Amino acid sequence: MTYSLAIHGGAGTILKENMTPEKEAAYHNGLARALEVGEAVLRTGGSAMDAVVAAVCALEDEPLFNAGRGAVYTSEGVQEMDAAVMDGKDRRAGSVAGVFGPKNPIKLARAVMERTEHVTLIGPNALEIARQAGLEFGDRDYFFTQSRWDALQETLAMRARGEVSDDPARRHGTVGAVARDEAGNIAAATSTGGMTAKAPGRVGDTPMIGAGTFADNETCAASGTGHGEVFIRWNAAAEIAARMRHAGEDLATAADRVVMQDLADNDGSGGMIAVDAAGNIAMPFNSQGMYRGMVCKGSGPKTSIYNTDD
Ligand code: ASP
Repeated sequence: MTYSLAIHGGAGTILKENMTPEKEAAYHNGLARALEVGEAVLRTGGSAMDAVVAAVCALEDEPLFNAGRGAVYTSEGVQEMDAAVMDGKDRRAGSVAGVFGPKNPIKLARAVMERTEHVTLIGPNALEIARQAGLEFGDRDYFFTQSRWDALQETLAMRARGEVSDDPARRHGTVGAVARDEAGNIAAATSTGGMTAKAPGRVGDTPMIGAGTFADNETCAASGTGHGEVFIRWNAAAEIAARMRHAGEDLATAADRVVMQDLADNDGSGGMIAVDAAGNIAMPFNSQGMYRGMVCKGSGPKTSIYNTDD
């Protein structure tokens, strides 16, 4: 019996020279906390689903990451969040898009899976499900972070000047978790504010089952972060599973192929974390960095940021 857990806190233009030691430590701490709460679930025999939701909640609560508290702003200065969960045991899934209110959109995605007959909800009825589930709500002040607000102003100013170097890799971020529990089930969870200065109503890959989030015990659980439009068009998460199922590839080969070729060759900067039913983990990314971490039964947690191992 074994368990494993991997998390990400977004991929993109993350360079050591732009970091301070304090900021670096804060990211490592945020990731470590999420690994800790997720592993606590697995260590006590909890389910992969409980573990990924717990880990993602911790990342949503941490304003450093673009999900929940700390979500980025649309071009109109509001926050619209997307989230999804999928259970590999039976392929049940739940997701929400464009929501503002619940402090933990990932809990709402799970409530959609557990309390409705649907997979994806948007709009007032999604929020109604959150109320029925007794989820906690936050206001604009709760979700506000100065750095995200400043990033929006910067991006809008660049657009006004007609600058084309509006690098998508600079503007995105997401959090996610994948896990394999001691019973041999796997699950995935992903949550995001999307991309800075996105159009109001824009939905990314995160809540699209198969694109940014996927899980099936037969193959793998995967969670993506990166340029959402490309992840959607290449059906990135489900493509890893498809390569395993139909081409007989192992997890690492399939994940690598999707991230380093399909996405990389098509302007899809970003990365994915994935776990298979044996508990193997893959975390490929084609950008300069990806906030990430992993822990397996019997080996200590490890968090990393850059293209190297640190
Ligand atoms: N994939 C997310 C989106 O496009 C953003 C990100 O992960 O960086 O909404």
